Amino acid sequence: MKRAYNFNAGPSAMPLEVLQEAQQEFLDYAGTGMSIIEMSHRSKEYDALHQETKMLLRELMNIPDDYEVLFIQGGGSTQFLMTAANFAKGKPVAYVNTGVWSKKAFAESKRYGDAYEAASSADKNHSYIPQQFAIKPNTAYVHITANNTIYGTEYPVFPDLGIPVICDMSSDILSRPVDVSKFALIYAGAQKNLGPAGVVIVIVKKDFLQTANQDLPTMLKYSTFAENDSLYNTPPVFGIYMVNKTLHWIKNQGGAEVLAKRNLEKAKLIYDVIDNSAGFYVGHAEKPYRSLMNITFNLRDNDLEKEFVATGKAKGFVGIGGHRLVGGCRASTYNAVTKEACAALAEYMQEFQKKHK
Ligand SMILES: *Cc1c(COP(=O)(O)O)cnc(C)c1O
Repeated sequence: MKRAYNFNAGPSAMPLEVLQEAQQEFLDYAGTGMSIIEMSHRSKEYDALHQETKMLLRELMNIPDDYEVLFIQGGGSTQFLMTAANFAKGKPVAYVNTGVWSKKAFAESKRYGDAYEAASSADKNHSYIPQQFAIKPNTAYVHITANNTIYGTEYPVFPDLGIPVICDMSSDILSRPVDVSKFALIYAGAQKNLGPAGVVIVIVKKDFLQTANQDLPTMLKYSTFAENDSLYNTPPVFGIYMVNKTLHWIKNQGGAEVLAKRNLEKAKLIYDVIDNSAGFYVGHAEKPYRSLMNITFNLRDNDLEKEFVATGKAKGFVGIGGHRLVGGCRASTYNAVTKEACAALAEYMQEFQKKHK
């Protein structure tokens, strides 16, 4: 078996150990003679897994007791509307526009509140994170996107804005330590850093949850999930199972701090090639806002980009083409992408440059 150097943006690389473990117990989970996907979500085996997954998240993210941890389906995109439907309540709601995903969240919020842009990086094609925010009085919350998967920017520090902050952490959750207590609500689709598509992690402060609009369809209310331990209906069992395995893996690696250090080293291997290429490679993000999860760049000679991606593919590098909306190149270096894979890509980039001087 030859595993690819997988730089996919999402769904993306999973730790090999996690995949192997899942493979091993796929036909017989915990001596039940059944696969985890063949048993009741009310069984004691599943319940133990469900509870442990929440506990591991609490432990690895240092989640305070006054926060709920929820598992919801519908992807990050459903969170765009759920956050607004529950918390906008017709009031002003602030959105920080740092790219495609935040724009989509903003668009959904217009149905539920008096939504406005508190800041935007659109003037420079989303190559930075704004540092000035215009928050109007009576604003219910501000929505930010921690890591901009498509443009390759990331908040180096989170702003203190004095109102509840809702944060989309879909593409950098558990890639670095985060002070959860700074946020009213955090959401993250699993398929970038935690598992397969199909489950979203939501971490919400209990007193913020108290303020939510209750006049909503059952499945759109966070309170339905909080009051029923995310078991009101069938949860995405397989997704939660894989997240559980990934969380164990993260714990075994030493947790978010160790991963943050490694992610920095990994990204540096590639950013250094860009910075030392005398302009052959052009990084998209301004340096202070460079993402450690998604490294976006162009080739000075745009015509070479196709060849760069195609030749790379033949060498086993998968997913290094840019997003279909922005073009260029992108290497996603999530937790599960090894340092060895990043070193190999860095080497390929140098070789490619030498050939095309
Ligand atoms: C991938 C992504 C999303 C969308 O997630 P879906 O699960 O496909 O709806 C939202 N926000 C960010 C930051 C993402 O990277």
